[in-house]
Amino acid sequence: MSKVPPIMVTRPSLPPLEELLPYLEGIWQRGVLTNSGPLHQQLEKALADYLGVPFVSLFNNGTIALLTALKALDLKGEVITTPYSFVATAHAVVWNGLTPVFADIDADNLNLSPAAIEAAITEQTCAILPVHCYGSPCDSAAIADIARRHNLKVVYDAAHAFAVEDAGGSILRHGDLAVLSLHATKVFNTFEGGAIISHSESMKQRVDALRNFGFADEVSLMGIGGNGKMNEFNAAVGLAQLAHIDEALARRAEVAERYRAGLAGVAGIRLPSGQALRHNHSYFPILLDANFPLGRDQLHEQMKQAGIFARRYFYPLICDFTPYKNARGTDAVSQARLAADQVLCLPIYPGLSDAEISRVLDCITGAGR
Ligand SMILES: *Cc1c(COP(=O)(O)O)cnc(C)c1O
Repeated sequence: MSKVPPIMVTRPSLPPLEELLPYLEGIWQRGVLTNSGPLHQQLEKALADYLGVPFVSLFNNGTIALLTALKALDLKGEVITTPYSFVATAHAVVWNGLTPVFADIDADNLNLSPAAIEAAITEQTCAILPVHCYGSPCDSAAIADIARRHNLKVVYDAAHAFAVEDAGGSILRHGDLAVLSLHATKVFNTFEGGAIISHSESMKQRVDALRNFGFADEVSLMGIGGNGKMNEFNAAVGLAQLAHIDEALARRAEVAERYRAGLAGVAGIRLPSGQALRHNHSYFPILLDANFPLGRDQLHEQMKQAGIFARRYFYPLICDFTPYKNARGTDAVSQARLAADQVLCLPIYPGLSDAEISRVLDCITGAGR
């Protein structure tokens, strides 16, 4: 058998190098490397325009942005969040001295279930930290209603939700704050990066100050801030990437459509429902139940043997990692546990060829034969 190249779960998008170079020449001429330089300011404006949101604050990564978002809201007590996410979601809660409480997800869209959120609320609850998992919108109307009735803040971990829209526009408009990751593995990357979307000038100023050690001006602090600034190099990458994001999203949609067609009617495979007016196809999760001829881990292994690297994402659940095992709610997340045991994220990225998509589909549909 001839050796075929491996197919990874994702490959980072890169702009043509020659389009990056003029930005770099500008940096070298100006000698301004960071601290809200011109490219940083330009990218904040360009992203606000592209995403259709009023206030974007760029960060050096999504995790520091999450930490800063929770810090900006001055919270105390318990934060209700999902166990079905990347560990950074819960880490941001604990790093702020807050207590994570896990609530179960909805079996259809794999996002926090509003009913489970409501059931987890106590006197100590101060905020809800939902994730738009795989870029599929949370039930933001129900979550906003719960937050209003119980006087809670809402911060969305929107790390997967770049460019996702519902009937009202970008889903980044939901919650008190929303946080993007611009990491290499995400739909839109600046190598490493993140952003906070705020809804008022005063909140953006607060976030920007906390991003820069807490400086309100040269001689005063508004609080204890960190260093979350994005530098000019990463901003340059972002500006060069933005020119290509629409083609990248279009190709992702084609890949997803081919997978969907190829997997339709395959026994034992279910696709989570991702109801968005505009989706970004950041991931392509499939759920395997007992009607599939192989167990999830067996299929994962068989694909590896064929040089196809799918990912069990999100497995294990956050609440099954040692530091979280005693958190409240870990015994009430049966739907999350089921999804973590059934899920496999298939390779998806703009450069994935039709031949490679067929290889992935053949490997799955031929499994167990
Ligand atoms: C990627 C990711 C993060 C962390 O973002 P970084 O930019 O890698 O720090 C947080 N939450 C979720 C759900 C993510 O997928």
